[in-house]
Amino acid sequence: MKLGIDLGGTKIEAIVLDSKGVDIWRKRVATPGGKYEEVLTAICQLVADAKQENELDLSSPVGIGTPGALTLESNSNIAVMKNCNSTVLNGRPLLNDLIERLCCTVHMANDANCFALAEALSGQGKEFALKGATMATAETVFGVILGTGVGGGIVVNGKVLQGINSIAGEWGHNPMSSVQIDSSESGRLCYCGRINCVETFLSGPGLSLSYKLRYGDTRTPETIIAKMRKGDPAAVFVWRQYMQQLSVSLAQVVNLLDPSLIVLGGGLSAVSEIYDELRVLMAPHVFSNAVNTTVLPALLGDSAGVYGAAWLTG
Ligand SMILES: [Zn+2]
Repeated sequence: MKLGIDLGGTKIEAIVLDSKGVDIWRKRVATPGGKYEEVLTAICQLVADAKQENELDLSSPVGIGTPGALTLESNSNIAVMKNCNSTVLNGRPLLNDLIERLCCTVHMANDANCFALAEALSGQGKEFALKGATMATAETVFGVILGTGVGGGIVVNGKVLQGINSIAGEWGHNPMSSVQIDSSESGRLCYCGRINCVETFLSGPGLSLSYKLRYGDTRTPETIIAKMRKGDPAAVFVWRQYMQQLSVSLAQVVNLLDPSLIVLGGGLSAVSEIYDELRVLMAPHVFSNAVNTTVLPALLGDSAGVYGAAWLTG
């Protein structure tokens, strides 16, 4: 059995998977706001409940998906959290504190990595294997979240690739290809401090900004998609530009990683038009005569984080 915890800004969810990866137990609680100690206690209580109710050994490992990432600060050998939208976690040694309290092995990864792992092993990657391809053909999966931000995670042979800097897959903070940026733009400032990050174009707010910069009006991504479907010329233009930007950015991933499967998650991944033409648009930018990479929408929805956390335990 595998036990996973997804620590989110509003809820903390626990799952237990059986040996075949099927969920046999789930529980969620609201994330305590304000105090770090209360978050730790809530996680430990969920782990205790999961172990007791499923008769798991107290020493069995726990996988935890979190926002942000662990980082080593100068003059310290204890990793602390950074880049968390749940700000009570920032600067805190979450992994160390949990190991100390839970007295078991704790595997931790960020939500984009958990998303990629979950889709690789319980979602589209599993379907991909069942459809006649062998698991070996899905040996490399790139998971992308196109939501309020843009995240990415890489799974190789069923394992998350963390990287020496714990940033493997953070493609959202590569610069957008300058060829795909409207010449009238002066540069989009990303929250990370860089200019023209992929995220500032491919996230939901990025799509809205593309519309605003060109036409002056503020439109939500949902409105732009609805107008595009009705053939509104402005929305169609901005959407076509978005598709080119997405295609070039993913083609760069293909040239580097050559994944057999790319799974898109987050709000914008639900736009079915993406899948009609993405491979065709990617083709001129991929260093190959044919693009055999499969690109699919995520299957697991909100559950991906907690499934991925459970799979972290091996
Ligand atoms: Zn950035």
